[in-house]
Amino acid sequence: MNDSILAQLARALVSGAVQVIDLSQPLDSATAVINLPPEFGKSLPFRLDEISKYDSRGPAWYWNNFSCGEHTGTHFDAPIHWMTGKDLPDNATDTIPVQKFLAPACVIDASREASANADFLLTRAHIEEWEANNGRIEPGSWVLMRTDWSKRRDPAAFLNMREDGAHVPGPHPDLVPFLVREREVIGWGSEGVGTDAGQAFQFNPPFPCHSIMHGNNRFGLASLTNLDRLPPKGALLITPALKIVLGSGSPCRVLALVAD
Ligand code: MN
Repeated sequence: MNDSILAQLARALVSGAVQVIDLSQPLDSATAVINLPPEFGKSLPFRLDEISKYDSRGPAWYWNNFSCGEHTGTHFDAPIHWMTGKDLPDNATDTIPVQKFLAPACVIDASREASANADFLLTRAHIEEWEANNGRIEPGSWVLMRTDWSKRRDPAAFLNMREDGAHVPGPHPDLVPFLVREREVIGWGSEGVGTDAGQAFQFNPPFPCHSIMHGNNRFGLASLTNLDRLPPKGALLITPALKIVLGSGSPCRVLALVAD
C-alpha cells in the first residue's frame, strides 16, 4: 500500500473525507465589472462569441471565443497590478512562483456586520478576536473576509454604486499593514468586485489593500463566493492565475480543499 501523502490525499478525495469547494462565481456577460469614473480606462465585461456548434461552421464541434478584462468575475490580483508593486520580482501572472498558488486560508466571518452596514470595515480587533478562538494566523495564509456579499445576485446590488461611489465592505486601512508585516499573509480575499472596500478611494493611503498588499508582493482574490462553506481555519486554497505574460491578474477558478 502506498502511503505517500499524495496517495492519502487521493484516497481522501475519492472517499469524500476531503471535499472540494468551488469559491468561483459563474462567468458570463452579466458578470459585474468594476465601475471607475469616466476619465479612467474601462475594463470590458465578459463576452462569449460562438465559433461553431455542430453546424456548417464546424459540423462535429462546439467552441467559442471569449474576451474580458483580467479583473473580471472571480479573479486573482498580481502585485504588478498596482504601481507600488510594479518593480518587484516575479510580480506578474506568468512569473509568480507556482507553489504560491496553493496556500491555507483563514476565513473571518463578518457576514452579520456586513448585512447591517455596507461600509463595514474589518479591523485588527476583529482579527485578534478571531485568533483568540482559532489560533494565530500562520505566515503564508490567505485572509478571506466572509460577508455573504456574493449572495447579492443582482449586479446593481452587488456593485452597490451611489453618487458618492461604491458601498461595499472591506479591510480597514490599518488592518492591511498589520496583516502584511505582523502576520505575513500571502494575500487578502473578499466577496466584493475588488479586494478593497467600496469607499477605499478616500482612505489613507487610497486603496490600501491594493497599495500595501501588492507593494509587498502579496496577492488578492476578488468576487469569491461560498466562503460560508469554509471552516474558519484549515481549508487549502488552489488559486492558479492564467499564465498571461506580464498579466496583472486573471479570472481564476478558485477551489478550496476542506477536510471532514
Ligand atoms: Mn482585481
